[in-house]
Amino acid sequence: MRMEGDNIRIDGARLWDSLMEMAKIGPGIAGGNNRQTLTDADAEGRRLFQSWCEEAGMTMAVDRMGNMFMRHEGTDPEADPVYIGSHLDTQPTGGKYDGVLGVLSGLEVVRSIRDMGLKTRRPIVVVNWTNEEGTRFAPAMLASGVYAGVHDEAFANSREDAEGKRFGDELDRIGWRGTEDVGGRPLHAMFEYHIEQGPILEAEGKQIGVVTHGQGLWWLQVTLTGKEAHTGSTPMNMRVNAGLGMARIIEAVHRIAMDHQPDAVGAVGQANVYPNSRNVIPGKAVFTIDFRSPDLAKLNAMRARLEAEAPQIAADLGLGIEIEPVGHFDPVTFDAGLVGVVRNAAEHLGYSHMNIVSGAGHDACWINRVAPTVMIMCPCVDGLSHNEAEEISPEWAAAGADVLLHSVLEAAEVVR
Ligand SMILES: [Zn+2]
Repeated sequence: MRMEGDNIRIDGARLWDSLMEMAKIGPGIAGGNNRQTLTDADAEGRRLFQSWCEEAGMTMAVDRMGNMFMRHEGTDPEADPVYIGSHLDTQPTGGKYDGVLGVLSGLEVVRSIRDMGLKTRRPIVVVNWTNEEGTRFAPAMLASGVYAGVHDEAFANSREDAEGKRFGDELDRIGWRGTEDVGGRPLHAMFEYHIEQGPILEAEGKQIGVVTHGQGLWWLQVTLTGKEAHTGSTPMNMRVNAGLGMARIIEAVHRIAMDHQPDAVGAVGQANVYPNSRNVIPGKAVFTIDFRSPDLAKLNAMRARLEAEAPQIAADLGLGIEIEPVGHFDPVTFDAGLVGVVRNAAEHLGYSHMNIVSGAGHDACWINRVAPTVMIMCPCVDGLSHNEAEEISPEWAAAGADVLLHSVLEAAEVVR
């Protein structure tokens, strides 16, 4: 659908200005943001976004989860719209770009299309999904999860923050509960543009990440039971050391992940030994294994191998063992057609690009269940995110938004 020699770009300065204006709402303490979901700051950020969208001629609908749908009309109002969505909420010590870049780039795409006098057959809808971060109300990606049928509304409304305030009550309090049913909108496609939150694009010197998959995960909690004993007076051959068993299983986790390359990872990030005393051999160890892969067969194979090897390690040391799955997501395969659209847009614009797997969860991972979906990523400095020091350059932000613009024009069908 693209014109010959078509080299149009979004307005990078305007996008950057909007990012900086939004960052003034719910400032952090170290240059980032604390605009947690369903706080007064969240409400204010939503109002600012609404006002910008309305200035750009868009109309708003809000569903009962507070998801905001800002619509730019197409020449065929009956056609299934093309969606661009991410989130405006942040971590308590979050950055200025995680999520926000995707929402405000959606707005910038519409602003640019209007400025250039372009028309698309399909409407374009820019979405702010409620509570992506999940810090205040677990789990993450809550409202996109309800939209996609992963969670029900009652579950979402009942989630409580650390002060015992309920999600549903807080959504009412800030005045952002809409009336529209959650889910079931006709979606032709959804694009989510996001910072990478990892170090790969910067290290590889690439401007654009074409996101082909989202990683699936298994969280396995392991409890080893040994015998607490004095570290000085217990002979080596009489110890039943849960700490040693944990160390050997951590080694096994690393080996198993290395044996499933590429694109498989495994680590133990949470570990406790009991009684955790300098001169007591641990009688108990409790730790969580985190295995991830974009390939379901590999993911399950890693879990199966751990479940075979860890009991052997425990038996060799005379330890009791229990392994309990405490978290799981299936890997996500983004829509192959849309992945191609994004790659072609990057190629056409002359931006360097590479395929990438999203290591973190995103709203797009849930929406992918109900509509063709894809993600675009830009680098972030040192891969740092969920941190007030999160940083990107205006050029990186603009390049990804250009790719978003061209991808959306392709999907929404430019009218000549
Ligand atoms: Zn995010």
